[in-house]
Amino acid sequence: METLQVGRAKLTWLNGGVTHLDGGSMFGVVPKALWERKYPNNEKNQIELRTDPILMELDGSYLLIDSGIGWNKLSEKQKRNFGVLEETKLEASLLDLGLTVDDIEIVLMTHLHYDHANGLTKLTDEEKYESVFKKAKIYVSQVEWDEMRHPNIRSVNTYWEENWKPISEQICTFTDEVEILSGLTMVHTGGHSDGHAIIRFQDDKESFLHMADIMPTHAHQNKLWVLAYDDYPVQSVLQKEYWMNQGYKENAWFTFYHDAYFRAIKFNETGEIIDQIKRMRYAYK
Ligand SMILES: [Zn+2]
Repeated sequence: METLQVGRAKLTWLNGGVTHLDGGSMFGVVPKALWERKYPNNEKNQIELRTDPILMELDGSYLLIDSGIGWNKLSEKQKRNFGVLEETKLEASLLDLGLTVDDIEIVLMTHLHYDHANGLTKLTDEEKYESVFKKAKIYVSQVEWDEMRHPNIRSVNTYWEENWKPISEQICTFTDEVEILSGLTMVHTGGHSDGHAIIRFQDDKESFLHMADIMPTHAHQNKLWVLAYDDYPVQSVLQKEYWMNQGYKENAWFTFYHDAYFRAIKFNETGEIIDQIKRMRYAYK
């Protein structure tokens, strides 16, 4: 498992499974001739997108960023459609580190689309869904939480009842911004979804920005390259422009949940790569 130390925070990428989604949908209006040079695609025009939660160890607490594609939650048809060739193996990843799901005290949810929220709940033997991280507080923006429970005609496809009902008592919401622990904040951005949030950590001169689905992979560095899945693409562009400039100025690490090739990248002030954590492929059993 790859790790990255950023000031007081230690990040470890866990195995949350994988999806393969249409490359065109992931790059919006960008022609394939341009995006295919930056991110490989298969014969079905799909690109490999991990759904790997990031474990954060900070000041003696264990936190998680997003929750993976989940285990035993998708039908065969859904697995085919979403290109899920591997499901979440989060418990095994944690066990390798000497941890269990009960050690997770806080889960930071950037948003609640199925590919981020499926890992929050699991099916029991009685065919009921229950919370996976029973001891954790789960942070999400108020706007996202409202839409999850009352999705519109389009978002109903990605906001699933089994992903929110069992965890509703664990939810902590925020409006614009919330400080979770010293130096660690969640900031509501909107864009990808109305309630989408990013995660920011600053410790002296070291920092990281988790842009979530406003910059899902390294290939989305261009500020105008936003997803066809975005509900409010112009908002994505504006927020991406603001936060990427901020991150460039601070030489922040940019961390990824979906990227199949890079776990984190650090850029200089002009946006050139100055450091990187590559994903170790085939590292998972
Ligand atoms: Zn996503």
